[in-house]
Amino acid sequence: MAETLVGPDGALPLPWLGPALAAAQAQRGHALLVVGAPGAGALAFLRTLAQGWLCEGRVAAGRPCGQCAACRLVQAGTHPDLRLLLPGALALEHGLASEEDVTHGGKRKPGKWIVIDEVRATLDWVATTASRSRGKLVVLHPAEALQGVTANALLKALEEPPAGVRWLLSCSDPERLLPTVRSRCQRLLLPPPARGEAEAWLAGQRVSSPGALLDACAGLPLDALALHAAGVDAGAWAALPAALQRGHAGAWAGWPLHRVIDALLKLCHDLLARAAGAAPRYFPAASLPEPRDGIAPLLEWSAELQRVARQAEHPWNEALLVDALVGRGSRALRPPGR
Ligand SMILES: [Zn+2]
Repeated sequence: MAETLVGPDGALPLPWLGPALAAAQAQRGHALLVVGAPGAGALAFLRTLAQGWLCEGRVAAGRPCGQCAACRLVQAGTHPDLRLLLPGALALEHGLASEEDVTHGGKRKPGKWIVIDEVRATLDWVATTASRSRGKLVVLHPAEALQGVTANALLKALEEPPAGVRWLLSCSDPERLLPTVRSRCQRLLLPPPARGEAEAWLAGQRVSSPGALLDACAGLPLDALALHAAGVDAGAWAALPAALQRGHAGAWAGWPLHRVIDALLKLCHDLLARAAGAAPRYFPAASLPEPRDGIAPLLEWSAELQRVARQAEHPWNEALLVDALVGRGSRALRPPGR
């Protein structure tokens, strides 16, 4: 599903983007790094900001007019001075590229990294002249999707920016970027919405018990909406600790692997927090079972989950892997009824 931008009614794609848009309007550097989680709407923010910078109508507090010719071209995805640089899998997920494009006609699996060919094509594109009056813009999301060679290629462009070209980058964790990339960008914080605003927005998207799903997703509303869209409601989420305790991997049947790992990491975090006498963050406290032999087996389980999370592109036999990970977590816990 393609995310919308600002249309003729002037409404923002996500209601909480307003203050950061107003703050960004004053930024005049050639590269802006927006620090914010994807689940807080980082991509929608970058695209709306790009629309505002290219808008040829009246821009108030960073908000594009939504009606001029430039706004209509951005909406249609055909503005000649705007280029999006995203990993293939993300472009596909957000409806910003066709399956044909991201798989190069079926020759490639849509990946989670930004590929070097795309970076080179973008650098060639920025070297040509702008078509309309506002200069050119590259939206790059997320900067963590750059690896060594792609980050270095980009670094050159940031060091010697051609006149009239601006870069808009997002990242959740600036510490994971090359210091040289970080230091060449101005920085802007995109915070997630306040709790009440996030709950109200989710309720407007027909999510029941939005509070529990926001807890499950560290307060990030787009992640909570994705969990809801995947069929996980508050009850199913709260039942996961008991399923783990019973070693019942079937509770995660049909989940994509990245979501299973994410849920198990959160569960492990909360089990460790509870064992240390701290408040859990993602699950209801009453749903969490006790560890069996202290925290050492939980720490080993945590290390294993993190190792698997780092190798998400590995061609796992997913069902066997989930069975093994759930089994291992289960053995770290006191069995039910004891
Ligand atoms: Zn406009």
